[in-house]
Amino acid sequence: MTVIRDFFIGVSRNELLNEAAKKYGLKLGAQNVVAGTTIEETMESIKKINVQGISCAIDNLGEFVFEKDEALKAKASILSVIEEIHKRGADAHITLKPSQLGLDIDYDFCFENLEEVVSLANKYGIFVNFDMEDYSRLQASFNLVEAIAEKYDNVGTVIQAYFYRAEEDLNRYKNLRLRIVKGAYKENDDVAYQDKADIDANFIKLIEWNLLNGKFTSIGTHDHDVINHIKQFVKKHNISNDKFEFQMLFGFRIELQQQLVKEGYNFCTYVPFGDDWFGYFMRRLAERPQNINLVTKQVFNKKTNTILAIAAGAFALGRLTKKKK
Ligand SMILES: Cc1cc2nc3c(=O)[nH]c(=O)nc-3n(C[C@H](O)[C@H](O)[C@H](O)COP(=O)(O)OP(=O)(O)OC[C@H]3O[C@@H](n4cnc5c(N)ncnc54)[C@H](O)[C@@H]3O)c2cc1C
Repeated sequence: MTVIRDFFIGVSRNELLNEAAKKYGLKLGAQNVVAGTTIEETMESIKKINVQGISCAIDNLGEFVFEKDEALKAKASILSVIEEIHKRGADAHITLKPSQLGLDIDYDFCFENLEEVVSLANKYGIFVNFDMEDYSRLQASFNLVEAIAEKYDNVGTVIQAYFYRAEEDLNRYKNLRLRIVKGAYKENDDVAYQDKADIDANFIKLIEWNLLNGKFTSIGTHDHDVINHIKQFVKKHNISNDKFEFQMLFGFRIELQQQLVKEGYNFCTYVPFGDDWFGYFMRRLAERPQNINLVTKQVFNKKTNTILAIAAGAFALGRLTKKKK
């Protein structure tokens, strides 16, 4: 299981494969978990989701950006999405990764880009969430959130329950709207729990704490056991539905998404779009290899076989080289 997870996390960060994937377009089944490649297509998908009583968090796919031009292009695209949300009156907010807007290039450059995005969104009353990435970017990302939150009230962030420090971070940022998740990256045991049972227990503990003490809680999970537990918890503690929402990723557990809406819970779907889908999709496979079911027969064509073969080769090579060291 760990080998499979390592495989998908490893390839998710491979530059060559990410570039190849952009050229191939939405293949490998990604069209089932990505709303579209253009803003127009995505806004159409969002309209269909909104009519079901579900709000959306829009993610302009992209991360690990090392060129200023690329970061500026991403910013321009996010600004256009904000304009579209406003123009169409969509029930949606922005969710973004600091590394996409230049965190790995220069902190001040990233801050300026983020501020421009948050400022435009603020003008229209649109919320902006800062996704959290791997541990190496954690503190810098929190510093950015904190600095921006001093000037704007429409920002929030994510707490990843697998980190030992998550409880402390939760306490520090309880006045922001927070999404709590288990955590999607591969982290060392000096900073993060490795056991599913430990992660799940901390996840529940953090959600409960924030529901009782925080501002607003977004519970980002596909785990029905956690969802059922939280339903009981809010009932027992008389926590009203407007204090929290459930969130799931676009294309995952659609029936459960609709069921929760029917039961009267607030629900938000995380909607990724764009051509930079490879890393995102590989992390979903790392979490749950059965997600490969989202790959339909039609798309499992020659090109996708090639890309998977290259991926497997690159991974095997990586492991071999590691062993030799
Ligand atoms: C809206 C949202 C936003 C996120 N944002 C971030 C972020 O900013 N940073 C970050 O690090 N991570 C983020 N994540 C990813 C998150 O950290 C987890 O890696 C991911 O959600 C997998 O954990 P899980 O809680 O969904 O359940 P898992 O632990 O993967 O699964 C638990 C159980 O739930 C059931 N299950 C799960 N998925 C399915 C399915 N598709 N079909 C049927 N049963 C299923 C299975 O029984 C499984 O054993 C986000 C996730 C969501 C949903």
